[in-house]
Amino acid sequence: MVSLNPWKRAFFLFPINKTQILTITTHRHCNSSLSTTNMNDAVVVSLQEWQGWGTTSPVPAMVTQIAEDLKLLEKDFDSQMKFGRAGGKLQGNFGHQEDKKHRATYKALPDSEAKLKFYSARQIACRVLGSKGYLCQKCWLAMEDCMCSQITSCLLFPGIKFWLYMHPKDFLRQNNTGKLLWQVFGVDAATLCLFGIPEHEQIMWDSLKLAGRSNVWCLYPNKNAILESVENVFGQEPVANSEVTSEKQVKVDTTQHFILIDGTWSNSAAMFRRLQDQAKSIWGDEENLSCISLNAGTSAMHKLRPQPSWDRTCTAAAAAGLLSELQLLPRFSSVGLDKQSEAVEHALTVLLEALTKRRLRMGRSITRKVRPNNIC
Ligand SMILES: [Zn+2]
Repeated sequence: MVSLNPWKRAFFLFPINKTQILTITTHRHCNSSLSTTNMNDAVVVSLQEWQGWGTTSPVPAMVTQIAEDLKLLEKDFDSQMKFGRAGGKLQGNFGHQEDKKHRATYKALPDSEAKLKFYSARQIACRVLGSKGYLCQKCWLAMEDCMCSQITSCLLFPGIKFWLYMHPKDFLRQNNTGKLLWQVFGVDAATLCLFGIPEHEQIMWDSLKLAGRSNVWCLYPNKNAILESVENVFGQEPVANSEVTSEKQVKVDTTQHFILIDGTWSNSAAMFRRLQDQAKSIWGDEENLSCISLNAGTSAMHKLRPQPSWDRTCTAAAAAGLLSELQLLPRFSSVGLDKQSEAVEHALTVLLEALTKRRLRMGRSITRKVRPNNIC
């Protein structure tokens, strides 16, 4: 069996006995190779491990495939993969060989959609493999810096749901702040959606479709987008939550879904475009995703240090800011959003302290990582 694509392989599983499986692979340079692997090695990223990083989704198929391919490459090159600590980049000879392979695969992909999905899955696979046994799965800090015991969890008002639309390069980053939201509120109230990972995007859009366009908001400080203030949007008392349908009262879910774009400033434009395209494909060309903007000066980051502008504010601070602005409005004034906002601000303070402690311990300057520009 010959395949032009070095990554594409036939993968047959024959249960030989309870502990062994037979793997048949096909590579461009190696038309067929047979190897037996222990059953324990067969699952490169288990469901339990995957979900431990803060998601309830199944392991994305392409992430599994790339992680398995990396493991097979290890065998082919007879050298272990090593990851750099920052960013999960593959190092050494293995890294060099893999780089050539994945670039060829990327180039051969037919369109930008396929390229994005491959890029995202590869980033995620490398980060998951490179962080195993090194990062705490809950707080994404190095084990020795784990801050989990200091985080106070809190129930988010059920009329609000956050979606952390995260760029793959921010996944498992120690100074990412989006992760704080599900650490505090749980993965159902603040759900991770990885950019370019179809399984994640599907889950989010299925939920947004059900919610309806009028209940979906994006926090995106784009000067070109039409922005609405929190007060304009939510300042009015909502229309009655129920409507009469054939003599039967049907309760309408008015949960407000807020998408927080969790990526660097330069990546967020592409992420926002993808959200807009997907919104149009569901709700029609005329329907843009509504964007809301926050008042400056309401979040923890603003209290802690000067912020040049909202667009430099980190993701967790944006969520905290949104909650405190909503708290001021009659519709949300009695559901404890102030406490929920404080819980996020507290988590943010804990993270900043943990990052600062780490840098001091490692003898690095603390001015780099704690600067708001580097926290996102
Ligand atoms: Zn931890």
